[in-house]
Amino acid sequence: MKIIDNLAHIHNEISVAEKRFNRTGASVCLLAVSKTRSVDEIMTAVNEGQRHFGENYCQEAVEKIDVIGRPDLIWHFIGPIQSNKAKQIASHFDWVHTVDRIKIARRLDELRPENLAPLNVCVQINISGEDSKAGITLDDADNFIAELEQFKRLKLRGLMSLPAPASDFDAQRIPFSILKQKLLELSISRPELDTLSIGTTQDMTAAIAEGATIVRIGTALFGPRNATKQTT
Ligand SMILES: *Cc1c(COP(=O)(O)O)cnc(C)c1O
Repeated sequence: MKIIDNLAHIHNEISVAEKRFNRTGASVCLLAVSKTRSVDEIMTAVNEGQRHFGENYCQEAVEKIDVIGRPDLIWHFIGPIQSNKAKQIASHFDWVHTVDRIKIARRLDELRPENLAPLNVCVQINISGEDSKAGITLDDADNFIAELEQFKRLKLRGLMSLPAPASDFDAQRIPFSILKQKLLELSISRPELDTLSIGTTQDMTAAIAEGATIVRIGTALFGPRNATKQTT
């Protein structure tokens, strides 16, 4: 089956890139981006040992998470967060990569169920400075991260970004390199920051070269997504 072959191929590409760029073996986590994918497609990957899944649309995700009902899977929310979805996100996910507003962080903190571990979060950085993109600017990162310290039910893990597409490998590395430097700088006073969530199907190898610890891969694993728009 295609998904099985794709998964093996991606694992191979990750380990080749780890060696080529002097990264520790198995230091890059594959996050399977399963937005718009069916429960069957997800379960095909689960049966091959895949455990981390990323979803963008709360409603769709919660339905699939409940149907699948596997406590050993680790669910990551990687889409824009609407305030009225914060409760569902805080109760169904283990990670949120897209924190870029204090108001949303506060809601996630308040709504994280007591019986669950603190929610792992990454701060989303708008590295390419595109008006249309989510995320805070690099300049705002220090203040934003300092403000997050008040939220005891959130565990800040690092930075996430989705740069504008770049033409070639060297150009892809530039924004990732800036993010790596920023994480390094932040981790001097906050050694618990261990996560750089960068790299998609288009630029995974460049992201690994620059220190990605989580790569978010959809298309290379499940094939092209159809263009059906979803908003929740
Ligand atoms: C959809 C998505 C991905 C996966 O992109 P592919 O090009 O399909 O690998 C990664 N990150 C985010 C934030 C996404 O929305």
